[in-house]
Amino acid sequence: MIYQRSSALFEEAYQYIPGGVNSPVRAFKSVGGVPVFMKSAKGAYLTDEDNRTYIDYINSWGPAILGHTHPEVLEALKLQAEKGFSFGTPTELETEIAKLIVENVPNIDQIRMVSSGTEACMSAIRLARGYTGRDKIIKFEGCYHGHSDSFLIQAGSGAATFGNPNSPGVTQGTAKDTLLAEYNNFEQVEELFRLNPGQIAAIIVEPIAGNMGCILPENYFLQNLRKICDENGAILILDEVMTGFRLAFGGAQEALGIKADLVTFGKVIGGGLPVGAFAGRNEIMNYLSPRGDVYQAGTLSGNPLAMRAGLKTLQLIQQDPDFYTKINKTAETLDFEMSKILNEKGIQHRINRKGSMMSLFFNATSVSNFTEVKNSNISLFNNFFHQLLDQGIYLPPSGYETWFVSAAIGDKEIDKTLEAVRNFQY
Ligand code: PMP
Repeated sequence: MIYQRSSALFEEAYQYIPGGVNSPVRAFKSVGGVPVFMKSAKGAYLTDEDNRTYIDYINSWGPAILGHTHPEVLEALKLQAEKGFSFGTPTELETEIAKLIVENVPNIDQIRMVSSGTEACMSAIRLARGYTGRDKIIKFEGCYHGHSDSFLIQAGSGAATFGNPNSPGVTQGTAKDTLLAEYNNFEQVEELFRLNPGQIAAIIVEPIAGNMGCILPENYFLQNLRKICDENGAILILDEVMTGFRLAFGGAQEALGIKADLVTFGKVIGGGLPVGAFAGRNEIMNYLSPRGDVYQAGTLSGNPLAMRAGLKTLQLIQQDPDFYTKINKTAETLDFEMSKILNEKGIQHRINRKGSMMSLFFNATSVSNFTEVKNSNISLFNNFFHQLLDQGIYLPPSGYETWFVSAAIGDKEIDKTLEAVRNFQY
């Protein structure tokens, strides 16, 4: 397939933007070929610059849970835009969205809005450090918590895709305070607490890991993390940037029955506009500036357009009591039927899925940590990706990423996707 206009646009972008993209995974470096330039999106579909349409399984990497450009969100945004783009003052709207979230997400009393998931996670560990008076944090290999320095140690997402999970530019001084363990390996966490007594401020974890592909917690992993944090006075930070409002309205805390001390959000909470947030109980959140001394701020934090898109998105989800049942069912059908087709073709694979988050690994065994992810057949994934792309199915352009199903994807789209999988030749 020739992606004529995308090729020309990429060539031009390459001259002015590092690597031609503003976020690395978009560059198709892992899967090869030219990234497809999109010009519009509506419901389940993206339209590229060559006027081809695609069923979208990225959904802006998670935010577009309702599908793209939902008419009611669009209308709310138009009305809000008429009133002004940014005031740099408090607004009633900020309290409205904060109240909705605090009343519906377990174990939080206050929430602070920021502009990205990176900022949310960066601020959450600063707060955890300020609250506990300790320096070290534990993160897990293949988990991604944004690109702030402390997290670019064995990081997932683009960092994993490009084989540089430890970025140059992160100082030794910063790196030494980030302790690493394998996802789903609680013994390693116990060992870290033994070796660093009284020094660990927090564990940060993706409750369903989504940045090395989709990996589910096993053997009471999260419950054990909860317990060891309690025993050692450490803070458990659940990074719900992907899972928040996606697994359930109360996120992974609700869906998996796990209690966090701090929660970070992004993606769905902004309805497609740049938003992140972090939240927790009063006891911890009161340490935050201006009430407390832990500093954190943002020129566009709580931006009225972003708050309006987020609020409307959350309200639309909340109004539909079957919302999660329906998108989870769609994802389950895709999971089950795709697996059936691949089995008929004799292709070894594993599909990991929780609710509407899923990944396909070409792997003969189960996949439950970063090492096992890296053992999967990436060149087969790349081939699969391109054959589906050519048939109008847009998957994440990396075998290390999660697919997100939106509420706009229905039977017609699933049938077309399965047809494309049936046509896959390897
Ligand atoms: N945490 C998780 C779990 C994420 O998936 C991401 C982004 N994919 C981030 C943090 C960072 O969010 P952002 O890209 O908005 O900075």
